[in-house]
Amino acid sequence: MSVDLHTHSNVSDGTETPAEVVAAAALAGLEGLALTDHDTTKGWAEATIAARQHGIILLPGMEITTLTENGISAHLLSYLHDPLHPGLSSAVSEARDGRLHRARRIADRLSVDFPLTWETVQEHVSAGATVGRPHLADALVGIGAVADRQEAFDHLLHAGSPYYVSQENMHPTTAIRLVREAGGVPILAHGMASARGRTVSQAQLEEMAEAGLAGVEVRHRDNPESGRRILEKFAARHGLLMTGSSDYHGTGKANLIGENTTDWETVEALCAQATGTAPVRP
Ligand code: AMP
Ligand code: FE
Ligand code: FE
Ligand code: ZN
Repeated sequence: MSVDLHTHSNVSDGTETPAEVVAAAALAGLEGLALTDHDTTKGWAEATIAARQHGIILLPGMEITTLTENGISAHLLSYLHDPLHPGLSSAVSEARDGRLHRARRIADRLSVDFPLTWETVQEHVSAGATVGRPHLADALVGIGAVADRQEAFDHLLHAGSPYYVSQENMHPTTAIRLVREAGGVPILAHGMASARGRTVSQAQLEEMAEAGLAGVEVRHRDNPESGRRILEKFAARHGLLMTGSSDYHGTGKANLIGENTTDWETVEALCAQATGTAPVRP
């Protein structure tokens, strides 16, 4: 039994609907998946219906963007939390507002050099979806400025670009505590993805464990071998879960659904820690 614990739909920056992501997981022969859109649970209802239709297990989830005190971006996966928990839902609602504001500022900067308007960017965002740089990338592809999302990130949207605008986010320990309060299970996503930027220190990992981190995503294409060893040692020391997943974004990224997976025993141990929402079982 294998489960892909990290996927995105067009409720955030994936290119497929939640039902299409579930169908893709079933087609790939997976027994289950987690839908983990950025800062939103909007896709849960549609994914739940699709999971029942396809007879596969669904862990409703979410990916929260956090920022350490020294400016390192850390992504936190939350599984099976209560989507109506006031503290967590207002924190991610605030994060979505911040993303909108930031995307407009990046669009403004780009519009100085490219024929890009905020209206054209919005055409690439599904109604009510969490906005992110991938949507700006799609708009840049749309006007022919770049060939694909990858090229947009490589040349115009990366953190060192003159068009880049940073965003204030919750501290990882704040997010971990909120997820636990909401009955969810917090797992650090691609924690050693060094190609994306600086990664968290050993002391920061320890601090996250202290705050209630449940596990780390080890097998992810952005974690190099050396980073995986660090995460494995950290997890072993604290008795934390170790997961593997694809971070599928439809056609928005090369990542293939099911390219990394998590074994059933680990998924059951994860579910056993959750009190916010039950997994959808066929
Ligand atoms: P944001 O959340 O607005 O900071 O944008 C970050 C998101 O962009 C990540 O969640 C990735 O899904 C996506 N992303 C980052 N790098 C790339 C890339 N090279 N190609 C496609 N998508 C990317
Ligand atoms: Fe993404
Ligand atoms: Fe991420
Ligand atoms: Zn992700």
